[in-house]
Amino acid sequence: MPDRTPLLAANWKMHKTTDETEDFLADFLPRAEDSGPEVVVCPSFPSLQRAVELCVQSRVRVAAQSMHEESEGAFTGEVSAPMLLDLGVQGVILGHSERRQYFNETDEALARKVPAALDAGLEPILCVGESEAQRDADETEGVLTRQIEADLANVPDQRLGAVVIAYEPIWAIGTGRTATAEQAQEAIELIRGLIESRSAEAASAIRVLYGGSVKPDNAAELISQPDIDGALVGGASLEPGDFAAIVDAAR
Ligand code: PEP
Repeated sequence: MPDRTPLLAANWKMHKTTDETEDFLADFLPRAEDSGPEVVVCPSFPSLQRAVELCVQSRVRVAAQSMHEESEGAFTGEVSAPMLLDLGVQGVILGHSERRQYFNETDEALARKVPAALDAGLEPILCVGESEAQRDADETEGVLTRQIEADLANVPDQRLGAVVIAYEPIWAIGTGRTATAEQAQEAIELIRGLIESRSAEAASAIRVLYGGSVKPDNAAELISQPDIDGALVGGASLEPGDFAAIVDAAR
């Protein structure tokens, strides 16, 4: 049986000022002290530094929500991997469906961002997932295959295990409509199979999370599926008690 430590990541999106980040962590960190799953919080850029300072003595790590593929240059408004590293950030969400949909984050850009994050020493959390129309048209397998093949094209086989993948069906994000445990397991098994076609070792090491309306009352069933290694949590991660309950569900 592969030994993969479960990972719970909180994607706060464009929520929480620095003060609100402090309030959250003051409440949440004491609840996250016990050993068990890895826990990552992903605040917006302005709160990253404060979050790093507050989490440094804890088991909780801090990741960013986005990153540019170049390390520097004329890219107004963007942030690079070395800049994140400089703050003490340890990971970065890449390819979230909101970035793909509203900010034109393409598979071509992701094919450069994922290795750029790894090269800098950041743990990439690569999001993939199909829309409702694609699922209804029976295109889920094709969409996931295309995204995984394209986004990981420049990651050498021996480094694939260091990537975290989050399967996030777009129809389940922020909608309250969770994928069933069977749907999530099926998609994530497919993703692991795609990794296996490149490296059996990476397939047994890589962590694949589920994301999409994970709540305290459905987390345990989802995370207990054989291929699901944790969750990327949006709405329910904004409240310390709810996120702590989701972390507990993975213990
Ligand atoms: C997300 O944005 O990554 C997400 C999974 O959101 P929610 O949990 O609110 O569906």
